[in-house]
Amino acid sequence: MSITTETIPLIEPDASAVGHADRVIAGLGLPVDGIAVDDPATGEVIGHIADIDVEGALLAVETADAAGEDWARTTPRQRADVLHAWYALLVAHTEDLAHLIAREMGKPLAEARGEVKYGADFVRWYAEEAVRPAGGFREAPDGGASILTRRAPVGLAVLITPWNFPLAMATRKIAPALAAGCASVIKPATATPLTTIFAVELARRAGVPQDLVQVVTTSSSSTFSDAVLRDRRVRKVSFTGSTEVGRTLMRLAADNVLRSSMELGGNAPFLVFDDADLDRAIEGALAAKLRNGGQSCIAANRFYVQEGIADAFAEGLAARMRDIAVGAGLGTGTGLGPLIDGRAVRQMRALTDDAVAQGATLLTGGTELGSAGHFFAPTVLDHVPTDAEVATTEIFGPIAAIQRFRTEDEAVARANATEFGLAGYVFSESLDRALNVADRLNTGILGINQGVPSNASAPFGGVKQSGLGREGGAEGLEEYQSVRFYNIARRETR
Ligand code: NAD
Repeated sequence: MSITTETIPLIEPDASAVGHADRVIAGLGLPVDGIAVDDPATGEVIGHIADIDVEGALLAVETADAAGEDWARTTPRQRADVLHAWYALLVAHTEDLAHLIAREMGKPLAEARGEVKYGADFVRWYAEEAVRPAGGFREAPDGGASILTRRAPVGLAVLITPWNFPLAMATRKIAPALAAGCASVIKPATATPLTTIFAVELARRAGVPQDLVQVVTTSSSSTFSDAVLRDRRVRKVSFTGSTEVGRTLMRLAADNVLRSSMELGGNAPFLVFDDADLDRAIEGALAAKLRNGGQSCIAANRFYVQEGIADAFAEGLAARMRDIAVGAGLGTGTGLGPLIDGRAVRQMRALTDDAVAQGATLLTGGTELGSAGHFFAPTVLDHVPTDAEVATTEIFGPIAAIQRFRTEDEAVARANATEFGLAGYVFSESLDRALNVADRLNTGILGINQGVPSNASAPFGGVKQSGLGREGGAEGLEEYQSVRFYNIARRETR
């Protein structure tokens, strides 16, 4: 049976919250024309950003590169102090940043505050890591040398970020680059560039040299990457976005033999075993599915639920999803904001229709909402056939697609039957089962009895076609460092 939520009214934006966001935008000193940035909840244009051409991008490379020479010579303590000051400013501006994120990206204000905390945490983490540069010492086995290993900044880094976490995706690249001693040129997505512009402005106020971090906004991302990734001054590219674009950038990076970090697409399996705690599994599912409206690379994408618990889980999840208040991120009480654009809404419609046509049961949602903005109802599909598109593609929206399984082996095999390997989730109250299954899932990130595994101290990243390299943790700093060794000759003097 199809249960739609079409008649439920959307939560309107709150005028004072919109005013707050717009005051922050007014303070950014944006150009009067250029690329328009809109609010996905209303379609209203909220500002313009410069459309920087190739010459402008190469000038940014030159400027950052020149500033990088001095920065590379700063001491770890100097870099840490600046990062601590940036962290303090990000925290002090939590409300400004959260309102800005909610306005340009659409997520509910409460979630936007969560992103500010998460995004700022990377800056604090790398302030702390900056003063503990790894290095080592070993003796050559033949006794003829002592080997000293050191870390040097990798050089000028090009950072390309997606629209879904406009603060956190930027800080988790800029902060380790700064901590390692690197200059950077960051290209945010045109859908949500304002938060990055503001965060970099705060970095400068905190003491990051004016020219060291350059923000380049452009309507032609391929022209940008073609030019800057071929520039010999650039030594590193760090990209977060789709696997398809990641492949293109890796080909370009090959010509210049760039150090490359690729945080790419996901298709996360979410496994619920009969011995799971039902409430915990539903809570975890809501978080893993609806955080950021499902527009997260680690969003639960394929729910595999064991037969004994499947009915209760599907009904429980649908009941909770049905109760979610949908509306503007800057509305009071909003639980789910708009999708980023109309194309995403049409994709949700197509995925739902295809699944239902193939025999899936629509438990709730499945419909566009409102007349302005890009809203789609929280949706639960049960008994989804394995070859329905929703069960194979990265959904990037608020649709929970449930399939059922009998045995642990079957669940693991189906979960691993994808070229992606970013995140996976396991729910079981048996420690042995949870850990055994987690060991067998081929992903870089595992949420065990929990739906939000991300943490600034953890090495976020994927296996298979979900990417290369890690962000966060000590590992995230290494992405911006080259290992060097000094071979100190030893000989007998007696
Ligand atoms: P996207 O690949 O379309 O765009 C990401 C960024 O790359 C944007 O800034 C875009 O302008 C830029 N871009 C696009 N083509 C380019 C080119 N040829 N050269 C240079 N830059 C180019 O992805 P999106 O739609 O913004 O984000 C969604 C995707 O990102 C999803 O697949 C999601 O899984 C992935 N993602 C991954 C992670 C992760 O950490 N693994 C995090 C967030 C999002």
